[in-house]
Amino acid sequence: MQIDLETLYQEALVWDAHAGVFPSPEVNLDLLDEWHAGGISYLSINVGFDVMNWRDTLATLAAYRRWVLDNNDRFELAATIDDIDRARAEGRFALSFDIEGMNALNDDLNMVGLYHALGVRQMLFAYNLNNSAAGGCHDDDSGLTEFGRALVHEMNRVGVIVDCSHAGYTTTMDIMHESVKPVVFSHSNPRAVWQHQRNISDEQIQACAATGGVVGLNGMGIFLGDNDIAIDTLLRHVLYVSDLVGPSHIGIGFDYSPDIDLDIGEILRSRPDYWPAGQQYDTHDIKHAGPAQLPALLDALARTGFDETAIRGFLGENFRRVAAATWQ
Ligand SMILES: [Zn+2]
Repeated sequence: MQIDLETLYQEALVWDAHAGVFPSPEVNLDLLDEWHAGGISYLSINVGFDVMNWRDTLATLAAYRRWVLDNNDRFELAATIDDIDRARAEGRFALSFDIEGMNALNDDLNMVGLYHALGVRQMLFAYNLNNSAAGGCHDDDSGLTEFGRALVHEMNRVGVIVDCSHAGYTTTMDIMHESVKPVVFSHSNPRAVWQHQRNISDEQIQACAATGGVVGLNGMGIFLGDNDIAIDTLLRHVLYVSDLVGPSHIGIGFDYSPDIDLDIGEILRSRPDYWPAGQQYDTHDIKHAGPAQLPALLDALARTGFDETAIRGFLGENFRRVAAATWQ
């Protein structure tokens, strides 16, 4: 049976598990309209990453939170799956927050519950480099620390999605062993398709699926290929994961950002070690797939035999399953 993809895309839950907007209180969140207009129902937007200190993360969270609450005619600060469903029914855009790396905790486990209370629903452990909780993907493969292990349990308890993106191999395997809830790689691509330290091995993908988790397709051209965001390239990454572990373990985490009017040169220049040489980060004009590429990607997926259930799973139902098992 022919699938009416246009109708399906309009009515389906479309979940983007990570936006790559540079986190700062200065960002004008009107830019979020681009996701909603592009058909996304729910977006997780980062309020901090390990390169920032925890105070700047809290300040960004405070600013974003106020903005979303002040604009609740268009946006919903979603605490639950029900909030997302209600927002969709009302034509509003649902959001919650994520944090990329545990430096945001200032070494205090109690901060997990505080961030959760303020709208954070997903956290990853280390942003590229090692920290007091975990190992990063561009650093020595040191594994999860005792503090990191306690954090997995605390996130499970409080209801924050456990995210392995940006962490090192051993850390991710430790996390997936430790977590009693499904674990995601919110924005990571398969290394078998494109060799990059930010991408993940078959073993990591299989361990993620074994937890009931999901791997989110990253739209950044340097993680997809040689700065390549062609539909066939996106398709190759989705199909690789789907063939390996099945279509109920893939989703979207585009890591997309529109160009923003914000001078971030100073912070990037101050810590170049977070983006080491030889990993394409110095690529001129890095391309980025986002919501605009989704209709063509769905068309390509349907042509390869993805049925309606598999397409709905990829679009959002798979991540919804993880959130339903995790959020409280
Ligand atoms: Zn990231």
